Amino acid sequence: METPISPLFIPKPHLQLLLDELRRRKYSVVGPTIDQDAIVYGDIHSVEQLPQGWTDEQAPGHYRLKRREDESWFGYVVGPHSWKKYLFPPKTTLLSAEKTESGWQFIPRSADTTKFALLGVRACELAAMRIQDQVFLDGPYQDPLYRERREQLFIIAVNCTQAASTCFCTSMKTGPRCEKGFDLALTEIDSGFLCEVGSERGREVLDAFISSARRASEGSSNDANSTNENVTSLPILDATPEQLRSAETARQQAVDQITKHMETSDLPGLLLSNLDHPRWKEVGERCLSCTNCTMVCPTCFCSSVTEVRDLNMDRVERERTWDSCFNPDFSYLGGSLVRNDTASRYRQWLTHKLDSWHAQFGTSGCVGCGRCITWCPVGIDITEEVAAIREGTLP
Ligand code: SF4
Ligand code: SF4
Repeated sequence: METPISPLFIPKPHLQLLLDELRRRKYSVVGPTIDQDAIVYGDIHSVEQLPQGWTDEQAPGHYRLKRREDESWFGYVVGPHSWKKYLFPPKTTLLSAEKTESGWQFIPRSADTTKFALLGVRACELAAMRIQDQVFLDGPYQDPLYRERREQLFIIAVNCTQAASTCFCTSMKTGPRCEKGFDLALTEIDSGFLCEVGSERGREVLDAFISSARRASEGSSNDANSTNENVTSLPILDATPEQLRSAETARQQAVDQITKHMETSDLPGLLLSNLDHPRWKEVGERCLSCTNCTMVCPTCFCSSVTEVRDLNMDRVERERTWDSCFNPDFSYLGGSLVRNDTASRYRQWLTHKLDSWHAQFGTSGCVGCGRCITWCPVGIDITEEVAAIREGTLP
């Protein structure tokens, strides 16, 4: 990249012009929106779809939407969705086969040309994407769908200005500040966003967006009867020292609100050297083996492949779907289940996530987003389980 440009201040109404610019460049913009009483990720055409004035209240086994006292656009933490659903979709057709007169004909999957622009990516989610990159791209076998979508991805990160009681990104050193891995990064302050550039692609889109904002502003000032709400005469300028201070205060607020902690100094090692710890049996009695924790986790990547044929028996599709180490069938090996109780499945999940993941990928498999704590129906808290094993470490 060329010399970094100093953060710009973007007045709030201009964000629509940034979405328009991305759509002009054929990106499908996806971002936070409200559905089924939760903030989830979906298609975004208008800033009106953002959860303006809403926040999320989270605790172990607890999630509620709440009205905010202000009209903040990104004043929430993270919800049940993660961005992995766009890069590693819950269901994918890998291959099809059709019966023809000359026999079965295999039809390979066509290259995926979808260009996603992700709006509102948090620091822990950027870290989760780096982890999934290692899983799907850095090993001897690459996942072609993941690669196609990842290469075309445009990321607009948004710095957290608040944290939930379930967040522990500071322990995992993944947040809450977005430091790398984005094209543009925003910090919301009262009337707008501070915008930082993180890539050449980000700079190019920002330049085009500034030009279109300028044209819109000129059009607006020439047209006294303009009723287009997206057109604003407010200029995009370098952030003032006061705006920089406000952004820093807003980001620090998220740091100050993080109360949950996971000690990582003895990870990896702690869990694998305590495989017979009585805590596994105890947590196995509370755990429902429902798979929620693995479905909401932004780094979990287990999948299963099945072949599905149509009723005419002349077409078969090989489908990959998300799976979970909490499903009994997932450990079916050599004619039997190798993890045939919930305690052994919970132990598999936690030891992989926090311990053997280091040997496999060189990092922890946890980014401290807290989703598995919030969405566990019985409120099992990964940080408490690790602490309990440490406290009662077997000799
Ligand atoms: S294990 Fe839990 S806290 Fe860690 S990344 Fe997965 S969902 Fe987030
Ligand atoms: S730990 Fe909680 S979310 Fe995960 S499988 Fe068990 S009951 Fe379900």
